[in-house]
Amino acid sequence: MKAYKIAPNQNVDLSKISANDKDFFDGSKEEGIEYLLELNHRLKDLQSKFFAVNDKKMIVILQGMDTSGKDGTIRSVFHAVNPQGIKVEHFDVPSKIELAHDYLWRIHKKVPAKGEIAIFNRSHYEDCITVRVENLMPKDIWSKRFEHINSFEKMLADEGTIIVKIFLHIDIDEQRSRIQKRIDNPKKRWKFHPKDLESRYSWNDYVKAYNDAINKTNTKYAPWYIIPANAKWYRNIVVSKILINELEKLDLTLPIPDYDFDNIIVP
Ligand code: AMP
Ligand code: MG
Repeated sequence: MKAYKIAPNQNVDLSKISANDKDFFDGSKEEGIEYLLELNHRLKDLQSKFFAVNDKKMIVILQGMDTSGKDGTIRSVFHAVNPQGIKVEHFDVPSKIELAHDYLWRIHKKVPAKGEIAIFNRSHYEDCITVRVENLMPKDIWSKRFEHINSFEKMLADEGTIIVKIFLHIDIDEQRSRIQKRIDNPKKRWKFHPKDLESRYSWNDYVKAYNDAINKTNTKYAPWYIIPANAKWYRNIVVSKILINELEKLDLTLPIPDYDFDNIIVP
């Protein structure tokens, strides 16, 4: 999975990266779906240890174009995990009160506590991507945010937070087909927003803004991964493996309380 981790000083250009790559799974889609179940259980076990050890915190940031599969990734990757140990935070268009504060105010309120894994469905990256492309604030404001974000994430990392930043990379044709499916399927229509069509006209501007944001905020303590996400099953495997790998690195061992268990009698 290291292949999808952006190296320090690597200059990323999303328009040159394949969204179809499947180099790290040697098998069919059916085999991939089967394998995911195994990964689901490994992640479940690791999360429960992570919670029991209660030391570090973890944030998984999910970013991507509309329809890139943020919701589906959360559903499929965390499907076996105890809901009590994770929290999913979705960052929508900021409210009036959120806009009256600095942009990190609403984010900082949602960071995880010890033993918790927080999944950010969108994040503070919207504040230097959507805000930039949609011209919601002048350059003078958003261009300073990369530096703030690096400092904010450094503080969180120094305080014991593992930060994994994931960009779900689909291409423009895949997006067309996914939007069309939302329109065609009455059960998926609720997900459709006319804004999704508009943002297709700004595809290249989004690519540019993402390139810039990824390159300026890819740090050792909070690295970016660019995941080929045209094939949902492959995307799920890759994201699962990255998280499993991060948790395995911690070498988690269940705490043993210091009681004289042999002499405890349950009345
Ligand atoms: P979704 O995640 O598809 O439900 O949509 C959430 C919407 O909120 C997207 O269109 C985002 O671009 C938008 N959004 C999230 N955060 C911000 C922000 N800080 N500024 C402007 N728009 C935002
Ligand atoms: Mg949407």
